[in-house]
Amino acid sequence: MAEIIKVLKGTKDILPQEVNMWQFLEKKADQIFSKYGFKEIRTPIIEYTELFSRGVGDTTDIVNKEMYTFEKSDRSITLRPENTAGVVRSYIENGMTRLPAPVKLWYHGPMFRYERPQAGRQRQFHQVGVEMFGVKQPTADAEVILTAVNYLKALGLNDLDVEINSLGCPKCRQEFKNKLKEVLKPYFNDLCEDCKNRYEKNLLRLLDCKVESCKKIFEKSEVQEVINSDFICDECAEHYTELKLYLNKMGVNYTENKLLVRGLDYYNRTVFEIKSNNLGSQNAVCGGGRYDSLVAQLGGEDTPAVGFAMGMERLISLITPKEPKKLDGYIVSNFPVDAFVLAEELRHQGLNVEFDLTNRKFTKQLEKASKVAKYAFILGEDEILKHQVSIKNLDNGKQITADRATCTKMLDL
Ligand code: ATP
Ligand code: MG
Repeated sequence: MAEIIKVLKGTKDILPQEVNMWQFLEKKADQIFSKYGFKEIRTPIIEYTELFSRGVGDTTDIVNKEMYTFEKSDRSITLRPENTAGVVRSYIENGMTRLPAPVKLWYHGPMFRYERPQAGRQRQFHQVGVEMFGVKQPTADAEVILTAVNYLKALGLNDLDVEINSLGCPKCRQEFKNKLKEVLKPYFNDLCEDCKNRYEKNLLRLLDCKVESCKKIFEKSEVQEVINSDFICDECAEHYTELKLYLNKMGVNYTENKLLVRGLDYYNRTVFEIKSNNLGSQNAVCGGGRYDSLVAQLGGEDTPAVGFAMGMERLISLITPKEPKKLDGYIVSNFPVDAFVLAEELRHQGLNVEFDLTNRKFTKQLEKASKVAKYAFILGEDEILKHQVSIKNLDNGKQITADRATCTKMLDL
């Protein structure tokens, strides 16, 4: 026998018995996001590498270590590691900057990151997310957070914490960065290797480090003092205060977390994360924030924007599994031609129906019917002659006989 070829490490099949959960996530996304006026967009999975080095930022882990990149016809191409950059590219390229603001888009689909696979972390995973363009006011931030919260509620998830923070604008953040750099300097040699690199290239990302020895450093009183200082300028502070006001009015519970910085370069002002208490160490289900400079950075007109992305695998692991749908009917008959014809008749009437393609014994067919279907459509000689069919409810065993043309009207489907 030939050797079996296995699925790539860090990737997974979504099997037929799991697909209904994915369809549920997608259906709810369409329902809830539509309520807020978001329209679905589908962008390609492959993009020019430059989109991500410029859009996500070449000091980030994603761009430095995690991208699947290859050459084709002398062009460097990358499997998308996230979808904000792609949506922004499409927004610019398709002239959506000229549409009346806000432009609200949502997406779902596979993303690719070369990370160490573990529970809640894959190399091909899926995200569902929204992006809103053209509004600089904090109403947009609040509406995006509310959209996320209500989507999660619609999935039946309640035990979640919303964390928010403001990173300020590039101007006020610079002062903060200078102070942080200064106060961390004496501890430089005690930082982990990643943080040593981040110290020069992506200082804020340090605060997001999960290494215990680094966390200890951030707990030192003089470092805490810098972290907790109100560094943001008046305008940024007003934006943040208004956002909190809206969230309070809308009944969104949140906590403020000064250490929340997010892994991507493009955020300014609002950042937020939604965490679950039931997920172990990979506990973030949603990450998002405001990215006012990204559209211009990718060649478009200066346009403020805010959005979020959620990890669909993590959502799936939190929701209660749903029973896969049964067939409406399974035909039980030892007259294969008539069974075939009836199956097709019922399909035309809108039912999901199968019959035994191999014409096994009657009892075997009935056994199969009770496993896979809600109703058995029994077709014996008598029924065929009278152009009727006997229908057995496989839940309660009740059986009726009816005319073939009208029988489906009598069913509770
Ligand atoms: P994390 O801190 O978990 O690495 P991140 O900051 O890299 O997350 P984002 O890029 O903001 O995450 O992605 C948003 C969401 O996508 C995350 O909150 C998470 O639910 C999910 N996610 C990110 N990376 C993965 C992965 N490798 N496998 C599964 N889900 C992921
Ligand atoms: Mg990550």
